[in-house]
Amino acid sequence: MGRVIAIANQKGGVGKTTTAINLSACLAEAKKKVLAIDLDPQGNTTSGLGVDKNELENTVYELMLGECTIKESLTKTEIESLYLIPSNVNLAGAEIELLGINDKEYILRNAVDYIKDDYDFIIIDCPPSLNMLTVNAMTTADTILVPIQCEYYALEGLSQLIHTIDLVQQRLNPHLRMEGVVFTMYDARTNLSLQVVENVKNNLNTTIYKTIIPRNIRLAEAPSHGLPINLYDSKSAGAESYRLLAQEVIGRKDI
Ligand code: ADP
Ligand code: MG
Repeated sequence: MGRVIAIANQKGGVGKTTTAINLSACLAEAKKKVLAIDLDPQGNTTSGLGVDKNELENTVYELMLGECTIKESLTKTEIESLYLIPSNVNLAGAEIELLGINDKEYILRNAVDYIKDDYDFIIIDCPPSLNMLTVNAMTTADTILVPIQCEYYALEGLSQLIHTIDLVQQRLNPHLRMEGVVFTMYDARTNLSLQVVENVKNNLNTTIYKTIIPRNIRLAEAPSHGLPINLYDSKSAGAESYRLLAQEVIGRKDI
């Protein structure tokens, strides 16, 4: 059965989408069958995987509102063994439209249950808030992967995120586990990056991935070409690091 990993952190700009795109692509490169679900109205995972977010009949929005089936919401990307449930700005209104719907915390999970066996990994890119979409990601997920940007305010908001994960685990999804923390945008030239890593290691009782994603300009450029990093610049430091992360994720035997 596929492992469902939600990439969550309510802070914006910490590398959630970059990780969703490139972890998905590197898992697919490692011959895994992967479904990426874009749960952010910004649709950056969608466009970053080369899918035009304005030319879509069905997206995760139609799926969440029961206007299409999960199979109808699926798009094949140009990348071998990588599929996508895309998103666009329509999703921004979903929060309100879901008000009053029964079991609204479980809409995504109930849909994903139908296709979970068809994939090795399902990667969900969460929006930058702890809203009902993120709750849906957390009820669907087996594990939560938290990207942490190596900057001064890295720890801010982290306790709130962990509290939310605990609440969802207690009340909505008892199987939910922490996948682990991934440090992103690490800059080897500054002491600050190193301090952030040490600080989180000392203060957070959770798995921390050995792979640290460096700050790499090629990672920032790739989305404008609609390509994941392993196809945009296969030999870049960014590509190498996301390949290593994919291997570590595959190798996790304890979850
Ligand atoms: P989030 O989804 O958490 O808001 P993004 O993945 O969109 O964060 O990243 C925020 C910005 O930082 C984007 O412009 C992205 O291209 C850039 N970025 C992310 N990770 C890296 C990295 N390792 N090196 C350089 N730029 C990065
Ligand atoms: Mg994002």
